[in-house]
Amino acid sequence: MTRILIDNVDYLLTVDQHDSVLEHASVVIEDTRIAAVGRADDIAARYSGSHFDRIIDGRRTLLMPGLVEAHVHLSEQLSRGLFPDSLTTRPWVFNWAKPFYAAVDEEAEHWSVLLACLEMIKTGTTCFLDMGSQNDAGITVQAAAQAGMRGITGRHAADVKPEVIPSYWTPEMVAHHFFRDADEALAALEVCVKRWNGYAEGRIRCWVNIEGKEPCSPELHRGARQLAEQLGVGTTYHIASSIEEARVSEQKYGLWPVERLERIGALGPNLVLAHVVAIKDHEIDLLARWGTKVAFCPGTSLKIAKGATRIGKYPEMLAAGVTVALGCDGVSAAGALDMTRQLYLAAGLFKDARMDAAMIPARQAIRMATIDGARALLWDDEIGSVEVGKRADLIFFDLNQVEWVPCNDPVQTLVYAASGSSVKHSIINGTLVMENRRVLTFDESEVIEQARRLTERVVARSGLKRSQIPITTSLYD
Ligand SMILES: [Zn+2]
Repeated sequence: MTRILIDNVDYLLTVDQHDSVLEHASVVIEDTRIAAVGRADDIAARYSGSHFDRIIDGRRTLLMPGLVEAHVHLSEQLSRGLFPDSLTTRPWVFNWAKPFYAAVDEEAEHWSVLLACLEMIKTGTTCFLDMGSQNDAGITVQAAAQAGMRGITGRHAADVKPEVIPSYWTPEMVAHHFFRDADEALAALEVCVKRWNGYAEGRIRCWVNIEGKEPCSPELHRGARQLAEQLGVGTTYHIASSIEEARVSEQKYGLWPVERLERIGALGPNLVLAHVVAIKDHEIDLLARWGTKVAFCPGTSLKIAKGATRIGKYPEMLAAGVTVALGCDGVSAAGALDMTRQLYLAAGLFKDARMDAAMIPARQAIRMATIDGARALLWDDEIGSVEVGKRADLIFFDLNQVEWVPCNDPVQTLVYAASGSSVKHSIINGTLVMENRRVLTFDESEVIEQARRLTERVVARSGLKRSQIPITTSLYD
């Protein structure tokens, strides 16, 4: 057995049931799990004479559960800054993201995932829910496992082509993106889950993920959740991701997207819906009733004008008992995979929009980024808080960084002042993956060099530098 002592941290945010914050606390890790949590002097007395394989000095650090990223696209990482910042959701997805994703080949996907893992580890994320790989899911699974991360991925899937294929979608891209029908897609997803779920001693899971909304049939939405249930995993997809999507849904079916999902039998507790910005009050009750989870991506809402503060009802979802987790989405949608930005936005946006300072307190934003994220990912029995018996997924913030000085209240300082660049160490599944900001699981400079090299190739192949790519769309209207 390997035993590690994290000795005498200034603050420990446990994110337990009572949101307990301990001062001068220590944590003992045995192999992959947390064996003891308590006051530093109590732990010292209890373990006096015990052997530790390693002692990490916790002084001038804040220790907390690793951040849980509830909606990310690891295969989007090489696109940062490529799409114009004048796009709303539908042209963003249909005109830009799809051609980009189709150009991500296996080699590019491998390095894209490692680059994303590098950014996540550096900014305190220890677990992710990835929307799915563009190629064989094994590429994402193995790269994330190599990086030392915990996470869930799948295989990107859709089955409904638009009536008219746009001139900037190549035949190769269409073949790459769309299965013939729901049955064919579900068969491929089942193979993927059976092959990869539970990889790396269970650190990497594989779900029945689909793209969601217009490019997926009702059979695929419903079938993904049913297949997930049958396989004992979850599913996730995008829905109600813009007001335009909701309007088209109303025109075609007389219902907004969430109610339509309920009507076709697609809601359930093993489902994480990304965005859900266009929602009516009675649809919130449907989410609560079915135990369906939501991944709110505030950064994406800002960049592609989703209207989270104008039409979004995230505080109402929280009040109704819906599990609302936080996601960065991909780097083209939001800009960065830094969950501390999402913490800040989650706590701040609705205070301003509703002119009510009681909206989403800092403490609640922290829960959304940790234990609620773990709950959304169906993993809260193992991660999301610092409690005895849970897996040791822990991050340390460096309190000697200027943003942490003074620290009259660690909860507020974390949410309103800290950035991901003050994360000092990261432990995932009991293994130190970053120490003093140096990642130990892979060669950071190689990842950066390879990512630069492959970006040129992917961008050229995607055709997205051509000036005739439109910034509006009527696809799927
Ligand atoms: Zn997304």
